[in-house]
Amino acid sequence: MTLPTPEALAELKSALPDAFIDDTVQMAPWLTEWRGRWTGHAPIVLQPRTTEEVKRAVEICARHGTAIVTQGGGTGLVGGQIPYGQVLLSTRKLREVRDVTPLDDAMTVEAGVTLLEAQEIAKANGRFFPLSLAAEGSATIGGVISTNAGGTQVLRYGMMRDLVLGIEAVLPSGEVFDGLKRLRKDNTGYDLKQLMIGGEGTLGVITAATLKLFPIMRSRCVAFVGLESAAASIELLARAKDETGGGVEAFEMMKRLGMELVLKNIPDTREPLESTPPWYVLIEITNGTPGGAEAQMERLLEVAFEEGLITDASIAQNDAQRAQFWRLREEHSAALKPEGGGWKHDVSVPISRIADFIEEATAAIEGFHPGCRVSCFGHIGDGNLHYDIIPGVGEDIPAFIGRWKEGSTVVHDIVARYDGSISAEHGLGRLKTDEVKRYKNPVEIDLMASIRRAIDPQRIMNPEILF
Ligand SMILES: Cc1cc2nc3c(=O)[nH]c(=O)nc-3n(C[C@H](O)[C@H](O)[C@H](O)COP(=O)(O)OP(=O)(O)OC[C@H]3O[C@@H](n4cnc5c(N)ncnc54)[C@H](O)[C@@H]3O)c2cc1C
Repeated sequence: MTLPTPEALAELKSALPDAFIDDTVQMAPWLTEWRGRWTGHAPIVLQPRTTEEVKRAVEICARHGTAIVTQGGGTGLVGGQIPYGQVLLSTRKLREVRDVTPLDDAMTVEAGVTLLEAQEIAKANGRFFPLSLAAEGSATIGGVISTNAGGTQVLRYGMMRDLVLGIEAVLPSGEVFDGLKRLRKDNTGYDLKQLMIGGEGTLGVITAATLKLFPIMRSRCVAFVGLESAAASIELLARAKDETGGGVEAFEMMKRLGMELVLKNIPDTREPLESTPPWYVLIEITNGTPGGAEAQMERLLEVAFEEGLITDASIAQNDAQRAQFWRLREEHSAALKPEGGGWKHDVSVPISRIADFIEEATAAIEGFHPGCRVSCFGHIGDGNLHYDIIPGVGEDIPAFIGRWKEGSTVVHDIVARYDGSISAEHGLGRLKTDEVKRYKNPVEIDLMASIRRAIDPQRIMNPEILF
């Protein structure tokens, strides 16, 4: 693998004469990660509009051994989309909706369609595409597949890995892998598309995907509840699954500190409950029958009060209140920023061990850095916690940030002991590729490296990340 030579660049420009940018000022927005955490550089940004154009570009790069970084919406949180001298291939102009077939509960869209657009296309065809996350207005289908994104509805519908029926991709050789099937059953050997899902752009450029669709639920109910402990929220989750027969679509836990920071730092927010409990859960239930979700929620809350699992509750009465409740959860990350940022961890542990993990990790981190504050929240229905440490009030922020790596090792070592993962949702990218080697089984890493060598022997696809 090499960085682009003048010859390779000249060939790319003549093959895609009206689909590239090489002006430094115009390229700038593609080269800085949205939070400003990584700023890279590239000699050229390619903007192919068809699979054929992607193929043409990759063939040239393959012939020259030229490295490529693929970028979708640029919203990834681990820096994998930022090039450092490689050709940047943007998929944002791959925009076609190839087909929607409600009878197959499937639709095929190109990689640059945003997640929000995909949800809207499904809705316009009387179906539901469930993946939802706060960056959905910019994140692309190619990006959410490449990062195996999760989000708020995983509990019921699974991660992106569970929502893809087929993939079309341009392989590092320039060949097109045409796997756009609408089949639910296809037992004819290895499921190759699954290698690309979560592959973070290392095995090819995804150009289109066939996605699974679902019926639109006829009722939806959201409640905020207060609890005395994290352990109670795990019991409540089990109770909620039983009471609804699997109808819980989202189950998001938050600590009081996170709520206080949202109320302090995010305009137009207010307390969701009359009391101020140490822990909260936002529950969303959906149901195929009109009124069904509301009835199930009321019954669940009644039982939970009787059993002493919750201390307070409020059910959203309309769409506006539902949106307000969700906003309190979704602004948790943004609310940390004015406090000086933090040591952020996107981890997962078995659901049954979440409360023990929080207790042990909090004691360890408070011992490591006395005075720090722990804000943890997340999709605990999936065992996924955003476990963030922020500086104490009035603390020297650069000194705090300087201890980030050591502090993260304290947290991640405990995650490993709980049989967890140090990247539950966001992938490895530039942020965690090296660190994960401390925790992942060497046999697994070797196997992944062999797969990559088989598909990309020149290592031209996103060469600086993964194994
Ligand atoms: C506010 C916010 C909230 C978020 N919430 C969640 C959440 O709840 N759950 C969750 O899982 N994630 C979440 N994310 C991260 C989420 O994973 C990314 O936003 C999204 O999946 C990346 O899509 P993208 O199109 O922006 O990809 P990019 O950021 O452009 O790229 C991400 C990675 O995918 C590769 N890639 C992109 N497109 C392709 C393609 N077509 N072919 C091959 N490789 C490609 C890139 O090389 C890179 O390695 C959040 C992000 C933000 C900013």
